Formats: sequence, C-alpha cells, structure tokens
Amino acid sequence: RTLNVDLDERSYPIYIGGGLLDKAGEYFEQHGLTKKSPVLIVTDTNVAPLYLSKVEGALSDSGYTVVIKIVKSGEKSKSLQVFEEVMTTAIEGGLDRRSVVVALGGGVVGDLAGYVAAAYMRGVTFVQMPTTILAHDSSVGGKVAVNHPLAKNMIGAFHQPEMVLYDVDTLQSLPDREVRAGLSEMIKHGLIWDAAFAKWCGEHTQDLLNLDPEALGYGLTMGCSVKAKVVSTDETEQGLRAILNLGHTIGHALEAIGGYGEFLHGEAISIGMAAAALIAVNRGRDRELYNETVKLLQGFGLPTVMPNHLDENEIISAMMHDKKFKESKIVFVLPVSIGKVEVVSDVKLEEVVSVIKELK
Ligand code: NAD
Ligand code: ZN
Repeated sequence: RTLNVDLDERSYPIYIGGGLLDKAGEYFEQHGLTKKSPVLIVTDTNVAPLYLSKVEGALSDSGYTVVIKIVKSGEKSKSLQVFEEVMTTAIEGGLDRRSVVVALGGGVVGDLAGYVAAAYMRGVTFVQMPTTILAHDSSVGGKVAVNHPLAKNMIGAFHQPEMVLYDVDTLQSLPDREVRAGLSEMIKHGLIWDAAFAKWCGEHTQDLLNLDPEALGYGLTMGCSVKAKVVSTDETEQGLRAILNLGHTIGHALEAIGGYGEFLHGEAISIGMAAAALIAVNRGRDRELYNETVKLLQGFGLPTVMPNHLDENEIISAMMHDKKFKESKIVFVLPVSIGKVEVVSDVKLEEVVSVIKELK
C-alpha cells in the first residue's frame, strides 16, 4: 500500500507493507538519494538487535555508506544531550548536506532523529522507518522534537520526511502492551473523523490484536490517512489540527502525574477518550455515545476508568499546566457522534471533576 501525504509545499509517500526494510536500498534509489554522502541510521537499544542489520545490509548492498547511532530505548533519549551525541556521530561520520538521516524505531527515535535531520547543516533529508503502531501517528505531520527537563516536546521543528517506509513485519516483535497502546491512537483516528473506520476497528479487534498483517496494513493506512487529511488542512496547528487531541487533555495529565511510568501514552488517552465521551453525555449527548466508545476501547483491553488512587485535584492541576489550558477555560475535544468531534472552550472544571469521580 502507498499513501500520499499532500502538503502545501510538497508531498511524500508512506509505503505500508511487509518486507519493506529488505528493500530499503531500492526505495532510496527510487527517490534519487545520493550514494556519495553517508547515511546516518538512528535507532534504539531494543530495535537495533532486531532490525538494524537488515536495514544496514539493504543499504550497503545498494552501495550506500552507513553510519550508525544507537541510543538507549525510552523517552529519556529525547533530550538535548542525546541530540548532541547524535550530532557528534553525524559530524564524525562525515555527513554532508546531501546526506540522509534515517529513524529506525518508534516515536522516540522518530522525533529525535527527525530533529537532528531538521537541524544538521540547517536541514538534511529525513526518512522514517517506524517500528511501532503508535508511530503511525508520529510519522505523519512533520513534527519533530526533543524534550526539555521542564516540558515535553519543547524544542523542535517542522521537518517533513522524504518518505516513510512502514514495514509491518517489524510490529510482530512489539510487546503486547505496546500493541494495545498503539492501537488506541489508531482508534482515535476513527473516532475523530471516520465512523466507518471506527466500526471496522470494532469488527477487527482480534485481527489487530493478533497482528494480522492484512488488518494492520489497512488499519495503519486508514490511521495515517486520517492524520494526513487533518494536518494537510492545517499544517502549522491553527484550527482543525486540534481535533487530534481527543482524549489528550486528561490523557496528558494522567501521564504527568503517573510520572510517565504508570501509563503508556495510548493507555492514558484511552481513559481520556472515555472521559471526553462522558463529558459530552453530561452535556446532553446520547448515552449510547459513551457506551459505544467504552465498548470499542475495552475490546482492545484498553483502560477506560480512572484509577482509584488518583486524586481529582491532582489531575486538574496537572491539566492546568498543560498548554491546552487557556485563561481558566479548558479547550476540550468532545465527541458529537462516533466519527465526529467538536472543539469547545467552555468546559468548566466542575464538569471535569464530576466525570473523574464518575469514572472511578
Ligand atoms: P518508543 O519509540 O519509545 O517505542 C516503544 C518501545 O517499544 C520502546 O521500548 C522501543 O524500544 C520498543 N520498540 C520499538 N519498536 C519495536 C519493535 N518493533 N519490537 C520490539 N520493541 C520495539 O515509543 P512510541 O510509543 O513508538 O512513541 C512515543 C513517542 O512518540 C513519544 O515521545 C511521543 O511524544 C512521540 N510522538 C510524536 C508524535 C509526532 O507527531 N511527532 C505523535 C505522537 C507521538
Ligand atoms: Zn497522542
């Protein structure tokens, strides 16, 4: 499958299928990427033993010179310090203006390597090779960043890839919890935009959880295409792009108070999506909207209740630190029906507190 992401200035393809990493060299040639300049592959300590030799082999066989940087797996690698380490490898490896930076891994490696590609010599070609389900989300939109100790994703850029090579075979080795959490973001893309796709997710829950290649290929293509439609309408985050934040207002707060260890991102936004549906119901939408949302998420083994030990005041104050909180009003994405959402800015704190209590 090939999906084209069309943006104002340029477009790039997302290739989705099995066995793509073995053909990395051919894709590079097809895209006219030079063999005279070294290619830097950035990956992490979990992904390297599984897939690095495959990509390195494919590129070398086609005549590319490969430089490698392996960072520690985990969010901590999205730091300025690791960014500098990758830069050092790039300089020592002799990368020049026509070099390519490859991100082989999940969203962490994608964001880090993407920011290196955006900044190295004021910008070089970037190729994404996502290896997580969640990365279908981060591979579209061109947002790349590292974290500051005081705030997540604070230092970054918009830098679109030349192409995305999404080899679904790599997803087979994902831990089960990462699979579910990644699918949470896929379901979100159905809930905000495409009722038929949301329904399809409900009907193919087992196929997706079993990592059936056909189902994954379709689901990832649909998820990427929803995101692509939203971001191409709104490339620099003015209006429409806000709908991508369904479940994220409360989700981010849960991640923050869990010290980014208790919940995976997809788990936190699953609870956030259930909460948003309940707020909408309390404001007059049909209760079926909440029931259907929760049923869909629970089918994937995703959490939809607030853990009892979390204090609602703590959740609220974490939410207020989030950038979506504007002058004592919270910007919330609320479902209208399955497949359709609205962005509202008049949700009161009491409404959120009440939903948190109801969900315990
Ligand atoms: P991740 O990159 O940390 O990957 C999750 C875990 O799975 C890691 O331990 C990783 O080493 C391991 N892993 C990756 N691929 C594997 C494979 N095929 N087999 C076995 N293990 C594998 O996390 P993620 O969930 O992919 O991404 C989260 C990051 O993405 C966050 O930093 C988030 O901010 C970012 N993100 C960015 C955007 C964007 O638009 N740029 C959007 C969403 C999320
Ligand atoms: Zn998200």
